[in-house]
Amino acid sequence: MPLSLSEKALCVKPSSTLAITAKAKAMRAEGLDVVSFAAGEPNFNTPENICEAAIQAIRDGFTRYTPASGIIELREAVSAKFKMYNNLDYTAGQIVISNGGKHSLSNIFGVLLNPGDEVIIPVPYWLTYPELVRLSGGVPVYVHGKKEIGYKVTASSISDAVSSKTKAVIINTPNNPTGMVYTKEELAEIAKVAIEKNFYIVSDEMYEQLTYGGHAHVSIASLGDEIYKRTITCSGLSKSYAMTGWRIGYTGSSVEIARLMGGIQSHQTSNPCSVAQKAALEALTGDQSTVVKMKEAFAERKKYIYERVTAMPYVEALEPAGAFYVLLDFTKVLQKSHQGQKIESANQVAQILIEDFQVAVIPCEDFGFPHFIRLSYAISMKAIDKGIGRIESFLQKIEQ
Ligand code: GLU
Repeated sequence: MPLSLSEKALCVKPSSTLAITAKAKAMRAEGLDVVSFAAGEPNFNTPENICEAAIQAIRDGFTRYTPASGIIELREAVSAKFKMYNNLDYTAGQIVISNGGKHSLSNIFGVLLNPGDEVIIPVPYWLTYPELVRLSGGVPVYVHGKKEIGYKVTASSISDAVSSKTKAVIINTPNNPTGMVYTKEELAEIAKVAIEKNFYIVSDEMYEQLTYGGHAHVSIASLGDEIYKRTITCSGLSKSYAMTGWRIGYTGSSVEIARLMGGIQSHQTSNPCSVAQKAALEALTGDQSTVVKMKEAFAERKKYIYERVTAMPYVEALEPAGAFYVLLDFTKVLQKSHQGQKIESANQVAQILIEDFQVAVIPCEDFGFPHFIRLSYAISMKAIDKGIGRIESFLQKIEQ
């Protein structure tokens, strides 16, 4: 009789954002000129001062185990950052440094969830959320965002989805994949429901530094003592500091939750990479001018790509307020044809775009939004220009 495997593991769908990105990289390695709007990964190199700090850490022999929840200097730096930028008081004992945002989320669900606990996930969502909830024994419950407000969810739609099993709601602002930013008022309404109906907020603020055109990032935990107690704030260095490969994320939570997350982490990974922690310390405490420059570049790209996509036939775009994604509604392309072949899904569009036009995009079926395509504009202007040109050529070839 064959030995069985974990049902949870068998149900996990590998990350399609990473798979498409890997495909684009492999095609490039074969010599093809592929433009990749796929993973949200800044095209900038990690700033020099951060790399130097890592090199110095290696030279100093800072290559051994660290405390499971991260070195105290880094937790203090995160605490200071929370105070300065988020108006949040978390002591170093409330901070856990992890191996990236996904790892922080996995720790959070590991601490919050018992089998069958429900987690409300606004749709569209970053594809990793439901997988991590399920891996921790939880049940994702989907609530659709409202088109009129850029597919953000309202407090009342969350309230309607709450059951006796609801343990938490995930709020992601600035949002992946919509690029929307929740206002203070919207968050205050959601906080009211969380307090009244007694559930946690998992606040994923990974793109917090990337907002444009007067949109301000607000941390929901900063909106009062009660919501502070119920929120686990999660962020990291990958996006704002161009440090995707270094894998450093962090959380602010109650001391109790931080202690439990640290315990889980101590068994799962011992600690986040010692050298990456020193790099993160430099990122948070060192010169911030390159971060400002990267943000300016993203703002410029946002403006440009939005202008271009709004001029495209058939496609509707949401104007991004933050992060580095633009979400395109391809509904009008579906049921039309390309080279005699009927187009039935955004997945198929993405397939045609990469195979025939050498442009990689993210179809949003795995984000709960099957008619949409996400473009990351964390790539150079030249690449944006070339890639958009190729998508336009595809659209021009659409047959009625
Ligand atoms: N979070 C990024 C994205 O959505 C990186 C890829 C991934 O981890 O899914 O593109």
